[in-house]
Amino acid sequence: MCYNSESIMNTSYLTPEILISSKQLDAIVSRVADEILADCRSDTELLLLCVLKGAAMFTSDLAKKLDAPVMLDYIKVSSYGSGTKSSGVVRLEYEPAIRDFAGKRVVVVEDIVDTGRTARFLCEYLTDCGAADIKFCTLLDKPSRREVEFVPDYVGMTIPNKFVVGYGLDYNEHYRGLPYVGLLNN
Ligand code: 5GP
Repeated sequence: MCYNSESIMNTSYLTPEILISSKQLDAIVSRVADEILADCRSDTELLLLCVLKGAAMFTSDLAKKLDAPVMLDYIKVSSYGSGTKSSGVVRLEYEPAIRDFAGKRVVVVEDIVDTGRTARFLCEYLTDCGAADIKFCTLLDKPSRREVEFVPDYVGMTIPNKFVVGYGLDYNEHYRGLPYVGLLNN
């Protein structure tokens, strides 16, 4: 299915305005990978824990740029209902397969930190699972929207309070495949 197909047009598909270009994303991912590596000890295994689905592209690109042995796993939570409104309640939908966190630095890789509820939930969940060395990496951060205190360890870019799509981020499951981050309906 392509973006200009009739079915997508029926969902009022709009072409997003580019906020972060593909070239800028590449530079951001390189810089974040360098920051993660600079903090990493050689005797510690790096486990990238991708938060599905939004962080899938970011995580893949990050893993390729990290010049170190990397383990990959996935977790899925939900807080958003349909569209652009968060329900405020975070639920675990899919647990990581790796359960042994001893000797590992877990880097949670998220698409965007908004209210901070999902990030807080994920860190508490991993602590309960026995992870002692947790870092939080987000492609995008909207600090002006925080409802619970949370400061990510690695931030790709701080953005204003706008709804963004692309590079993994969706609106009702559309737009995830865009190679850039764009603004929708702003
Ligand atoms: P939080 O729990 O911090 O409020 O929300 C985090 C989640 O909300 C993100 O992982 C993402 O799925 C969703 N989210 C927050 N802001 C945006 C946005 O601007 N665009 C999209 N597509 N998702 C967002």
